[in-house]
Amino acid sequence: MKKGGVFMQVEVSRRRFLQGTIAMSVVGSSAISATNLFASSEKSHSGVPESITTKTGTGEAKEVATLCEMCVNKCAAIARVENGVVTKLNPNPMFPKSKNMLCPRGNAGIQALYDPDRLKFPMIRVGEKGEGKFKRVSWEEAYEAILNGTDKFPGMAKILEEEEDNRSTFLFCAGEGMAEHTYKQFYSAFGSSNWLNHASICLQTVSSAYGVTIGGYPQADLDNAEYIVMGGANRAEAIVTPDTMDVFKRTKGRGAKLVCIDPRFTNTAAKSDKWLAIKPGTDLALVLSLTYVVINEDIYNKAYVEENFNGFDEYKKSVLDNKYTPEWAEKITGIKAKDIYEVAREFMAHAPRSVYYPGRRSTFAKSDFQLRRAMAIFQGLGGGIDTKGGLIFGKKLKLGKHAGLEPLYAQAEARAVEKVKKRIKGEAPYTDCSIVSGGGSWLTWRNRFLEGRMGYKVRGMFVYKHNPMMNMPNTKKTAEMLKKMELVITIDTMPSDTVMYADVVLPEATYLERTDPVKTFGGIEPSIAQRNKVIDPMFETRPVMEIMKGLTEKISKPLWEITKKYDEDVQDELAEAVKPAKVPENSESNATTAPVEPVKTVAEAEAELYEEFDLTIPFRHTQEEVNEHMVKSVYGEEAVKSLHEHGVFYPDMDKYYKATSVNEHQYYPENKKYYSVNGGKPKTRSKKVECNIANLAKKGVDPMPVWRDEYNFKVEEGKFRLLTGRHAQFTQSGTSNNAVLRDLIMENYVWINRRVAEKKGIKFGDRVEISSKVGSTQLKAYPTEKVAPDTLFFVHGFGEESEALTWAYKNGGNDNAVIEDVAEPVYGAASMHETNVEIRKV
Ligand code: SF4
Repeated sequence: MKKGGVFMQVEVSRRRFLQGTIAMSVVGSSAISATNLFASSEKSHSGVPESITTKTGTGEAKEVATLCEMCVNKCAAIARVENGVVTKLNPNPMFPKSKNMLCPRGNAGIQALYDPDRLKFPMIRVGEKGEGKFKRVSWEEAYEAILNGTDKFPGMAKILEEEEDNRSTFLFCAGEGMAEHTYKQFYSAFGSSNWLNHASICLQTVSSAYGVTIGGYPQADLDNAEYIVMGGANRAEAIVTPDTMDVFKRTKGRGAKLVCIDPRFTNTAAKSDKWLAIKPGTDLALVLSLTYVVINEDIYNKAYVEENFNGFDEYKKSVLDNKYTPEWAEKITGIKAKDIYEVAREFMAHAPRSVYYPGRRSTFAKSDFQLRRAMAIFQGLGGGIDTKGGLIFGKKLKLGKHAGLEPLYAQAEARAVEKVKKRIKGEAPYTDCSIVSGGGSWLTWRNRFLEGRMGYKVRGMFVYKHNPMMNMPNTKKTAEMLKKMELVITIDTMPSDTVMYADVVLPEATYLERTDPVKTFGGIEPSIAQRNKVIDPMFETRPVMEIMKGLTEKISKPLWEITKKYDEDVQDELAEAVKPAKVPENSESNATTAPVEPVKTVAEAEAELYEEFDLTIPFRHTQEEVNEHMVKSVYGEEAVKSLHEHGVFYPDMDKYYKATSVNEHQYYPENKKYYSVNGGKPKTRSKKVECNIANLAKKGVDPMPVWRDEYNFKVEEGKFRLLTGRHAQFTQSGTSNNAVLRDLIMENYVWINRRVAEKKGIKFGDRVEISSKVGSTQLKAYPTEKVAPDTLFFVHGFGEESEALTWAYKNGGNDNAVIEDVAEPVYGAASMHETNVEIRKV
């Protein structure tokens, strides 16, 4: 890479990185030679001596307790640091959530730190938007560009001035991560109404459906369950966390039965006792028919239902009247009626120690919200809620509060959501979906923006640890959106496809270089954990807390001037504050002709009011100071010490925690575990399972789960239904450039039924193009019997277009280049399996 000037444009020699690969493949994943990784110009910026190596030594080393950030699970790790270099990540046995496990991705976290492609310096755009041409600047120059723009793009001050202090003219979006909380504090203080997180392209429908039906998104007590139905969660293949180990090591090891429901013959299917190959998107019909069987045969837990259900009679009537029989479901789902009878009966025979696994995946079909409601109700029919061996809520340990800032700006428009003009009772209140969640609907927001249906101008956006170019269906539209945004600021560790569309790039320190907000992890064995900084940030990267400190110090006062100019509430308050004090009528002072002094000078009044708008307030303390306050105020000094030393704390940890074998530990004694926190009841306000929710009907949503004709997906003649999914060694596109993980999965292949492939003359490894109405992508073919003739599948996270990603660039196919922008109707979540595609050999 060039020094200064055009920095990101890849004029780098790919050969240099290939040399790096050879070094890595020789020394293996636990011992990477960093010498090669830092060869070339960046070594002079890194301050890392040429002689460093991440080969683990036997000499003295510092050990730091941290938390993994390579996926959502946040397992605890111990980083080994030798001469300032992180040489090894080991599992931390003290964290109940991760039970002494660090998966391959977790081990590869070391490469996230030493990836030669990572963002190293602040940069500003010098080429055309999306071209990836940037120049290296100082932090001060980057902040200056954000505030006042350059000849290529306007700054915040100009945009906000022209929009008369409508703070909602800036969109804030974020991916999952522990520092999201800190970033969100900036959003709250800034005062925009437009916030989008990853929920609507992830777990939105699952968490909301369980929330309204049983009062929360539960965990499954797999350690004690006897019968598990796993539908839509591919635990053996898509995410291997300690819970996955529970399923396959502990649960199956002691003879529990596992039923896998999946259109594909996955690793989970291979390890299950029964695999039911279901037609994609028809799971709701299956669950309704399971419900039919247990109601019709009277095998549900009547006492539990009587005491803990609302609206059961109506639901029962609906299920029976609609004749959701297994024979009916067989025609829709492709699963044999006899199997449905068997699963329903076995599930109830084991209840309450049976689990219909809630799933941990994005929305696949339009019926997803109702599917999850039906699953939660079905679980309740066996009484397995808030109880050992069933679905549990667990306990969450409290943390202290810390100061935030949420000023109200009179000029800030409400969130950009389009309401239907004349709402008819029982119909959706919004044009794109029925309910707008806190995280919003990314897909419909983007489309409304492109179609000019926002209600006001949105002109800029902040993007934190988020890659909408890769993770949102219809990549072309996302590119169009980013091009249309006048000011795009990205905060990230890697030069992703989205970063290529930035105007200002702020390089974040990786998780091993920062302390993140302390976090409480609820469950059967609750604890608090802290990610401690392992080494100082490399290059010129900064943690979000410091990024925000510098940014707010730069922009707060100038933007306040704009607020003063346009915000009538602020003007009124200032006028009121400097009014002369009222003098009582009979006061002696009436006699004097001297003017009455105002209570405050203008400067004093302004300074006082500014305190309510001072964007720097949430960032005045270091993350370490904030964490210490939040912990010490509740648990005292010992807890702070434990979090520093061990990364983990929970009350009585010193008494409870002990090793029970080489790799097994006790965290809580059995009688102290929180299997039940609500007396075996749901956590809804009514403490009942809500079958029939009138409020949903008011928003135009079916109040009870029912099957609708529009849920049937038609695979068009000569086409295929495209399925996508995850791979356990990759976390979406976030790890796509991780060279160590690429040793485990080099690229993605499209699964095509072997007989269909034969007819089309497609052989293993042939390059094929997958295309839909919205775009196309190319990758290699994998003919197999493990997928139905009308279905294609490939894993997500490949096929990035950013040339600055040496390993990920054009490696494999990008599913979202092909997936159409279909939104699920309740929350507007992206429905990922609703696209017809074609395949051709290239
Ligand atoms: S499951 Fe693996 S990647 Fe995820 S947090 Fe744990 S160690 Fe890290």
